[in-house]
Amino acid sequence: MTNLRDTFCSFCGTRYTEAATYPRTCTGCTTQVWANPVPVSVVLVPIVEGPTSGLLVVRRAIPPQIGKLALVGGFLEEHETWRQGGAREVFEETGLRIDAQTIEPLWFESSSPRPNRVMLFGVAAPVSKAALPPFQTNTETSERGVIHGPAGVEEVLAFSTHIEATQRYFAARGIAGPHAFTPA
Ligand SMILES: [Zn+2]
Repeated sequence: MTNLRDTFCSFCGTRYTEAATYPRTCTGCTTQVWANPVPVSVVLVPIVEGPTSGLLVVRRAIPPQIGKLALVGGFLEEHETWRQGGAREVFEETGLRIDAQTIEPLWFESSSPRPNRVMLFGVAAPVSKAALPPFQTNTETSERGVIHGPAGVEEVLAFSTHIEATQRYFAARGIAGPHAFTPA
C-alpha cells in the first residue's frame, strides 16, 4: 500500500486515525498538522529593446503544461523573502541576475482550480535585451524569450494566473498588440 503524505505524525510517529482530511490531530502527542496553500513568487521582467518592451518568459521543459510558455517563478525557500526567491528563480531559469529589491508588487491570486498555491506576482526593474546573458537550456526550461503584448497570450501561456498577470501588466501600460513571442 502507498503511504500518503502525513500518514504518520512527524513528531512522534503515531499513525493518524483520520488520514483523509486536514487539520488532523495526532492521538499520540496531540500535535496538529495542516495543509496550507504554498506561496509562489512570480517575476515579470520587462525586457527593453529600442522603443519596444516586452516580458521575459520561459518555455517549460517539465510538467505540468510542458512545452508552454510561462512567466518566471517558483516556490520560496524558508530563508527567502518573496523578492529574494523570485530573483533566485529568475537566475536559475534564465541566467539573468536581477536586483531583488527592485521587484515591486503587481498582483496576487490563488491558483485555480485548486487554490493550493498563492501566486505572488511582482515586476522587476527593466532590463535591456542586450544585457541578457547567453541562455543555456536547463532541466526546467527549454527556451527563453520575450512576449510583446497581451493578444493571444491565453493560447501560449501555461497558467490562468500567468495569463491574467500578463494582461494586467500590458493593460496598465496601454499595450494591446499581439504577444509576438521571440526567442531571446
Ligand atoms: Zn504525534
